[in-house]
Amino acid sequence: MLKQFNDYMSVKDMLDLSGIPPTRLLYYEDAYVKEFEAKVIKVLKTENRETGVILDETAFYPGGGGQPSDIGLMEGNTMQAKVVRLRRKGEIVIHYVDEVFGEINEGNHVRGVVNWERRYKLMRIHTSAHLMSQAIRQALSKPVEIVGSGMDLEKARLDFTHAGSTRELFPQIEAVANNVVKENRTVKIRLMPRNEAEEYVKKFHESLKTLPPQVSEVRIVEIEGWHACACGGTHVKSTGEIDEIRLLSRSSKGKGIERIEFTVQKP
Ligand SMILES: [Zn+2]
Repeated sequence: MLKQFNDYMSVKDMLDLSGIPPTRLLYYEDAYVKEFEAKVIKVLKTENRETGVILDETAFYPGGGGQPSDIGLMEGNTMQAKVVRLRRKGEIVIHYVDEVFGEINEGNHVRGVVNWERRYKLMRIHTSAHLMSQAIRQALSKPVEIVGSGMDLEKARLDFTHAGSTRELFPQIEAVANNVVKENRTVKIRLMPRNEAEEYVKKFHESLKTLPPQVSEVRIVEIEGWHACACGGTHVKSTGEIDEIRLLSRSSKGKGIERIEFTVQKP
């Protein structure tokens, strides 16, 4: 029984985080915070000799919703370290650091510096993925269901229900998408009670079915009048910041699922 239990729990999951207050998530309040000051709440030494730092607040995005986590720097009066990855466990964000010069001590104040070039590209790609969900529906003239998505620094992908190739429709999909980019629509983010959110996203052919049942308040990201869905990621303020969307490739994932890949670029 115990062995079976351990099989399902990684070492990291056994970190004792009891008594640690929730991390204030600055990236939710303002996705454009690039640098911030924070207090070191806890320094964790993991079994594989990594150092994890918990701060009272953070602008580092810990990953989720298909968007990779940030990287960057952590600096104090007598220390400097690279933030190489992050992890969110419940309401607490753990910053894993490497190449630590000096010492990180609980109670110290540090400055966090997000690798902004990387993060801003991911914000543009993430917002473009939302925009594309509706562009595909409009170009195909049917409310396809998006069944998967993901992104990295180079590109985003969307998997959706569609039998046959979309190759011939690429010019139309791109035209619809880039028209919305040019319209420079505002990206609005707000919290909504779950039942209200459920009704709201329906208008945009989206649902909350992948959201855990215990979530009662939902963060809705809306490209004004174009598309809205539940999302915990970081986004640009308006679609004009995307610059231009370019389709890269398509493939069939089988069982009537089509995948397209696309990227953002300067026109
Ligand atoms: Zn999203």
